[in-house]
Amino acid sequence: MSTKKITIIAAVAFLLSVVLVAAAVGGIAGLFGDSSRTDCSAVGSTTTGVAGYDSDQMANAATIVAVGKQMIVPTRGWVIAIATAMQESGLRNLGYGDRDSLGLFQQRPSQGWGTPAQIMNPTYSATQFYKHLLAVPGWQAMSLTNAAQTVQRSGFPNAYARHEHAARIIVAAVHNATCSTTAGEWTVPALGHCSSGFGPREGVFHHGLDIAAPLGTAIVAASDGLVIDAGPASGYGLWIRIQHRGGTITTYGHNNRNHVHTGQAVFAGQPIAEVGNRGQSTGPHLHFQIEVGGEAIDPVTFYRQNGIELCS
Ligand SMILES: [Zn+2]
Repeated sequence: MSTKKITIIAAVAFLLSVVLVAAAVGGIAGLFGDSSRTDCSAVGSTTTGVAGYDSDQMANAATIVAVGKQMIVPTRGWVIAIATAMQESGLRNLGYGDRDSLGLFQQRPSQGWGTPAQIMNPTYSATQFYKHLLAVPGWQAMSLTNAAQTVQRSGFPNAYARHEHAARIIVAAVHNATCSTTAGEWTVPALGHCSSGFGPREGVFHHGLDIAAPLGTAIVAASDGLVIDAGPASGYGLWIRIQHRGGTITTYGHNNRNHVHTGQAVFAGQPIAEVGNRGQSTGPHLHFQIEVGGEAIDPVTFYRQNGIELCS
């Protein structure tokens, strides 16, 4: 085959992949009706059976926990969600149920929970469960039964509590699960709340986004790449810089501890450091910076273009 032919084939393959990625992103965004949530494929947790539940059921549990983390729901909420799904579906994504009930939480399209296709998506159904739970005033102080029943309006409300013990064991087994999104191959670098945005700040320009999180919170690689710097850096205390495909560089600063070294290849979602308070920092946070073509850009805008809401 001539070089020219190979070039043309490569070009066509590349264009096709761009179209496919665009279609996938559009499809996921369309599915949720808003582009702020992408599909959560849970990574970082065990998939072996626990407490009599098999690997399929545990994978569903991992998704429920990972979605809860992504929405910054406290651990108590994960236990309530898991116990609810145990009661409603046995942690299986059921395509049937009582009347028109569907999925992990047996949500009903006729009661406004979403379309059947949406409800059958575990990320969507878990998101809906948490949204309703978070809307219940004082839910964290409620018994598991009362909290779950307020969300679910079940015909058998007292059945939730008997799952509480096993739900705790399952949550412990999958507590490391986080959402890894393949949309655009970018993932959220740390779970926390955005405390300071990109742009002018007190007379200087803030070239990154600050994500406040407790000391020791995991920082993960935002995308696949190569570590080009890891160590002490003026102002940043301890930092990591990663170069990604196309030359985009991400920087992670004020780290308490680094887990990777210069020259190391990393993948999206791989833990690389811990949130710290080193350097010019006023409280534990991740300073997250993205440079495209050597120029710092707003991470929130960049992520939004990849279908991910960094600060929700
Ligand atoms: Zn910063």
